[in-house]
Amino acid sequence: MSFRNMVAGLLLAGLAAGAWSQESAPTKTAAVKAIKFGKLWDGKGKVWTNPIVIVEGERVREVTTEAKKIPPGAAVIDLSKYYGLPGLIDVHTHMTIYTDETPGTPMLKQITSNSAAVQVFLARKGAMRVLEAGVTTVRDLGADQYEDIAMRDLINRGEMVGPRMVVSGYGLYITNTPYKPGINPPAGGIADGVPEVLRAVRQQVAAGVDVIKMYASTGTDDDTTGFETYTYDEIKAAVDMAHQFGKKIAIHSYGPDGARDAVRAGTDSLEHATDMDDATIAEMAKRGTYYVPTIDHNRYYLDNWQKIGYADGFQEKTKAYIARNLETARKAHKAGVRFAMGSDAIYTMFGENTRELGWFVKAGMTPEEALKTATTNAAELLGKSNELGAVASGYFADLIAVEGDPLADVNVTIKKVKWVMKTGAIVEKAAGQGHECE
Ligand SMILES: [Zn+2]
Repeated sequence: MSFRNMVAGLLLAGLAAGAWSQESAPTKTAAVKAIKFGKLWDGKGKVWTNPIVIVEGERVREVTTEAKKIPPGAAVIDLSKYYGLPGLIDVHTHMTIYTDETPGTPMLKQITSNSAAVQVFLARKGAMRVLEAGVTTVRDLGADQYEDIAMRDLINRGEMVGPRMVVSGYGLYITNTPYKPGINPPAGGIADGVPEVLRAVRQQVAAGVDVIKMYASTGTDDDTTGFETYTYDEIKAAVDMAHQFGKKIAIHSYGPDGARDAVRAGTDSLEHATDMDDATIAEMAKRGTYYVPTIDHNRYYLDNWQKIGYADGFQEKTKAYIARNLETARKAHKAGVRFAMGSDAIYTMFGENTRELGWFVKAGMTPEEALKTATTNAAELLGKSNELGAVASGYFADLIAVEGDPLADVNVTIKKVKWVMKTGAIVEKAAGQGHECE
């Protein structure tokens, strides 16, 4: 990045901070609010009829059906024609790898030509789409130059409107040749052998990440190979070092070998994995390892390959991979493996985060089981099950309203989100952050 690019990026970020601060979350969280829903699925095993959710500042004070409990002076928000749900959680995103559909510029080219500051600034548009889809928390699994930490902190300060972010910094990669001409995995995460793996984990922790990400196999974009890249000992070293620092770890494996070793090493979640053998699936069920199959992201690649810039000819393999991914999910669900919803949203996929839930229903879940993967299960995977993923006293006031019955039809959650509150603030488009500006 040139010095001129850097200055331009800083100027952009500075201007934006001024514009956003008027729209920032804290100014909207002061008052007590009383939100009326027709029904509420609270994530605690109860469906309420005509509930009132009383929100004080950033948190839920109480859920009640008694109107007399509404404090005097509270702002009453009548959503009684809608069904209330906890704000949704997507446990696998790449928020800072946002691109737009600028004609003639393939997305792969955009991400290598923009500076880090420009990427963070542009990513606010994706962040708004994620919120509009009802997703109020994401676990972001892999970014360059700690753009994810910047974005997390800007959102927490109210300078950018977006979902709460749990971030991983650089994912750990083995040394490799560019996986596409001109594109190298971010150098900050390259680590070979146990000592380098330990150093890379410690480096992410020192930088201020919340979770560790490791890539234990090939496979990404239009490449659906799943060759294991790390040894068991390297994977085990990463898992143990993450846990020593009190961090969880997410391990990427497209294929079964990396999956087997990641599960045996004690990973907290396993991303993507297809073709897992019965022993690995049984081990996941026994250990409570979360499976994040990210089935829908390959659908997105098929739908958008020309805009992304993939070479023609990968489609049959990707279609076959999706079918095997779904089959593996079906087997794992049947075996009692716990799932969390992860979209792997990247490029222009922001806003399509919850389409993964449709695949989960195809894999054999009820709509309610699917909903749990994006609420209570996901919150547990984040280690936040006492403040995220449910609507109950003391939890963050993350609430959404959907039109229809989300327990009868999963598409209600996917397509009918009508209203969103995050940390007690109603989500409204900040200047320049909506779709219409593109
Ligand atoms: Zn990913």
